[in-house]
Amino acid sequence: MMQLDIQLFAVPFRKVSKTRKRMRRAHNAMTAPGLTNCKECGAQIKPHRVCPECGSYKGKTVVEEKKEA
Ligand SMILES: [Zn+2]
Repeated sequence: MMQLDIQLFAVPFRKVSKTRKRMRRAHNAMTAPGLTNCKECGAQIKPHRVCPECGSYKGKTVVEEKKEA
């Protein structure tokens, strides 16, 4: 098997040019999470998950709401 003889060092930040730093960070942007609306109550929910507001999934109630005792 081929052995790569690479050693990684910490690089002082003044040794990295603005362009290099910006090119590296070009891929670091965060993306907004995908959100859909619940078919039952219309609340914004993550897709493929039971609605935390009304407990429905694909238009059916699968988790009953907790009743305050
Ligand atoms: Zn809902």
